[in-house]
Amino acid sequence: MDFAEQLAAERRARLAAERLLEQNRTELYEANQKLSIHARSLSKEIATTQEGLVTARHEAAEFRARFDTAQQRLAHAESAIMIAERRLWDSLETIRDGFAVFDPGDVLIAANRAFLAIFDGLEMVRPGIAMTELLLLLAEEGIVDTGGLKAGDWQAKMLKRLQAPRIESSVLKIWNGQYVKLIDRRTRDGDLVTLALNITDQIAREQQLQDARQRAETANRAKSAFLANMSHEIRTPMNGIIGMADMLAETPLEEEQRVFIDTIRSSGEALLVIINDVLDYSKIEAEKISFKTKPFDLERCIHEVVTLLGPGAYDKGLQLAVDYDLFMPTTYIGDAGRVRQVLTNLVGNAIKFTETGHVVIRVVGLPGENNEVYRVHVTVEDTGIGIPKDKLEDIFREFHQVENDRDRTHDGTGLGLAITKRLVELMGGEIWVDSSEGDGSGFGFTVTMQSVEQVEGDDIAAPAWMNRAFVMESEGLNRSIIEKQLNLMGLRPVPVSSIEELALHRAGPADLIFLDPSVLGGDERVAARVVRDRFTPAAMILLATAPTGQARGSLPYDVVLQRPVLRAGLSNCLRSIPEPKADVAFVGGKISVPTDASEFHNAIGTGMFAPVAEEHVGAEIVDTQAGPIPTSEADDGWGLPVTSPLRRLRVLVAEDNRTNRLVIEKMLKHMNIDLAFAENGKDALDQYQWRQPDILFTDISMPKMDGKEAARRIRMLEASEGLVRCPIIAITAHAMEGDAEEILDAGIDHYLSKPVKKAQLIAHIAAVADDHVQNPEPAHDIAATG
Ligand code: ADP
Repeated sequence: MDFAEQLAAERRARLAAERLLEQNRTELYEANQKLSIHARSLSKEIATTQEGLVTARHEAAEFRARFDTAQQRLAHAESAIMIAERRLWDSLETIRDGFAVFDPGDVLIAANRAFLAIFDGLEMVRPGIAMTELLLLLAEEGIVDTGGLKAGDWQAKMLKRLQAPRIESSVLKIWNGQYVKLIDRRTRDGDLVTLALNITDQIAREQQLQDARQRAETANRAKSAFLANMSHEIRTPMNGIIGMADMLAETPLEEEQRVFIDTIRSSGEALLVIINDVLDYSKIEAEKISFKTKPFDLERCIHEVVTLLGPGAYDKGLQLAVDYDLFMPTTYIGDAGRVRQVLTNLVGNAIKFTETGHVVIRVVGLPGENNEVYRVHVTVEDTGIGIPKDKLEDIFREFHQVENDRDRTHDGTGLGLAITKRLVELMGGEIWVDSSEGDGSGFGFTVTMQSVEQVEGDDIAAPAWMNRAFVMESEGLNRSIIEKQLNLMGLRPVPVSSIEELALHRAGPADLIFLDPSVLGGDERVAARVVRDRFTPAAMILLATAPTGQARGSLPYDVVLQRPVLRAGLSNCLRSIPEPKADVAFVGGKISVPTDASEFHNAIGTGMFAPVAEEHVGAEIVDTQAGPIPTSEADDGWGLPVTSPLRRLRVLVAEDNRTNRLVIEKMLKHMNIDLAFAENGKDALDQYQWRQPDILFTDISMPKMDGKEAARRIRMLEASEGLVRCPIIAITAHAMEGDAEEILDAGIDHYLSKPVKKAQLIAHIAAVADDHVQNPEPAHDIAATG
């Protein structure tokens, strides 16, 4: 190779070497650069790590401090827990009651000393013992009274109790006479916490209370018995006093003597009312009152009250009226006696506190869904002194009387309305009052009762042939009520206030004349006959306010209707009237009758009309409750009994008290009967066998044999010998509840309370008289008591 070439080659090699060198230099530089960057970042990293190290060291120190605090706190807490636990157990140890905790497997974890004490001396009873074993020990060691159960059975019973989701408490009697009540609860973890409370004191107190209650009940029974005896003791002599006073009043007396005797009678009766009130109230208070519900006739019940209280009202000149909803049933299921008592109180008060005007009893009923249950609504309205508004709330409270402030002019105990209210409430009803002082009062009550019958329109409709009904009665309440009733029965009532007014009318073939004799004026006998002759063939119906006892045989009435008129009475009355025959003459066709009113009146006044229509003489009496009373063969209707070969009715009275025998003898002396007395039940039984009485009245409390026993024996005799049943009526002074049932259970048919009334005795005797015996009484007495 040439030099140039060599030089060129060397230059090239040098250039190449220079380039390589340059390249290496660059690379070196870059490497240095990187190295320095790395060195910088490394030193940065080191600085950071150092910082972190410091922080970590700080944190560690902090943690250590916190840990120390926590540890201190834990130590505190542990000691607090220990103190609390110690306190808890110390407390549990101080209580008399036992406390124990069992684990979910019912193994004892802990128990206080009181709990363990009853296992005194039994080493095995300590934490770790199972419930099953504890229970068995209790029973086997005789620690508890198992009530006669075997140990195993008792244990099983107690274990079963613990299985219940909510464990019932249980009372154990311990051998030493103490009582422990176990209360067990499961905790959320399934532990069983048992509390054994010592309830010995509580049981002792309960026992004391029970003893005290028993003593109080015994005392209360003694009080009731005392009341019964007291009423018996008071009523028996009262019977004598009132009965004898009644007898004495029937003898000829001077005016002054009559005042004395009337005072004795009215004071005696007032005393009886007070005794009855006090007795009733104490019975209600002692919750001894019971209700005997059976079918009864509400309208008749009202009638009885009006019959009883009517004379008091009539004596004062008051009108007493009953307005009974014609479309309402009368038979209900209820306690007639209690309803009567409520009515008697309200009507009695109305009459007592009314001097002029009227007292009216209104009865309406709201039927329930199927017409079987009725809400019966009774009001008693009067036109009396009324009650001040501010006193209205108080009058139903016991012993409350408005007259205390009005300076007492009326008798009474102030118990009547309190009793009435309680009775109504006990019957499930309500009572209220509305009154305005000086104008009168209205007392109302409702009771809901089941009705026994339904009333159909036909039941109350008058016979079809009847048309016009003259109501001869002075204007007022009674007339408006009877007009309303006649209207509802399909008649055409024409109110007439006087005989002159009647004379303005012409007679018709289908007329009825309802007549209150007080509007006739003058001589009733003459006036009534004039009316009869003028209006023949109209039927004349006498509206009798009170039974007079006088024979009305000579008066020309067809029917006597006793007031207050009952629905049954009115229907019976109308149905008993025969339809006049077509050929009967009327309207002056038979005799000459002045048609001018004043002439008519004058004629009555002078009595110029002699009775002509003799065929109309003699009235049939309609008992408003029972329909027409048939007149007996031995009776001429209204005259005296006709002598007859029939035997007399035999009445036997068993009564040990001589005065009472005398009273009854006097009461019945006018009767046409064979009256005999027995002095005790045994005597009555003997006499019953040979006398064969038609009726027996018997006292209940009698020596040797009481009235109930005598009745029982008589019923047995009748049954064994097939004898006719003899009606037995008890005359009793026993007024306490329960007596009535016992009396009726003995086979007695009815009972009368002492003091017995003459009319009651006569009514019972009259009821047994039949065609086989002579009429026991003059016929007008039937009318008088009917
Ligand atoms: P008492 O035995 O006094 O009649 P009650 O409890 O029956 O007792 O009545 C309480 C009081 O309510 C009566 O004393 C009377 O002041 C008043 N009172 C009751 N009913 C009437 C009435 N119809 N009119 C006016 N006041 C009456």
